Amino acid sequence: MSEWRDAINRKALARLTKALPPLFPRAALTHALARRFAPPMPRLAIDSYWRAHPLRADRLARALAARSGAPDGWTWRLGDGKADGLGANFRTPPAPYRESRFARGPGFCCVCGQPVYRLGWHVDLWNRGANRNAVWHSACVVAWDFWRGPADHAGLLKRLQRRRCAATGGRLWKTAEVDHRVPLFRVWREHRDTAWPSLLAFWGAPNLQVINRDVHAGKCAEEARFRSTGVDLMVGD
Ligand SMILES: [Zn+2]
Repeated sequence: MSEWRDAINRKALARLTKALPPLFPRAALTHALARRFAPPMPRLAIDSYWRAHPLRADRLARALAARSGAPDGWTWRLGDGKADGLGANFRTPPAPYRESRFARGPGFCCVCGQPVYRLGWHVDLWNRGANRNAVWHSACVVAWDFWRGPADHAGLLKRLQRRRCAATGGRLWKTAEVDHRVPLFRVWREHRDTAWPSLLAFWGAPNLQVINRDVHAGKCAEEARFRSTGVDLMVGD
């Protein structure tokens, strides 16, 4: 088994080394070389690095978005989740540069609005300018997935909390669930006018916690009551 893996790894490393540009982000290379299966291409090495570090990707995406700021005239609105690029409901992170009205076009990231460089990197290490074939940073893809599905990262978030329930301080059970401290329906109801991208922190690590299921059930009941009143609900849910 391990001989087979070594053979595959040798080939992958040879391909990676051959394809590697003279300048390559050091952290991503270190990560690639330490993998059980080395990613065979530079682009895969970068993607693999960010996938292994969703919290870094979350922080970076929000920092890049802060450089862009919100476009003039933008407010957080909901749509049908289709052509206009507006989110269908308040669970979708607000992303002005995904909206057709404000998109900056090829070479700019639709999540943060900043230029995308070679290999989906966020810094122009190669002095080649924006990559006109790209509309996502590699980091922003991972951040977006993290914001949309934080439950997929329960293990990581549990470790951050040393396996203690964020609500009660007791031990987290296996069935513990990822929760937004400020629930997203309240973000929409009460914090909708927060400037972008500060708004994004409600989807990122600063607003995420893992709590035991019984505590979570209580919070969800509150949301259900809100939703059943229909107040403020728009298209989608
Ligand atoms: Zn980006």
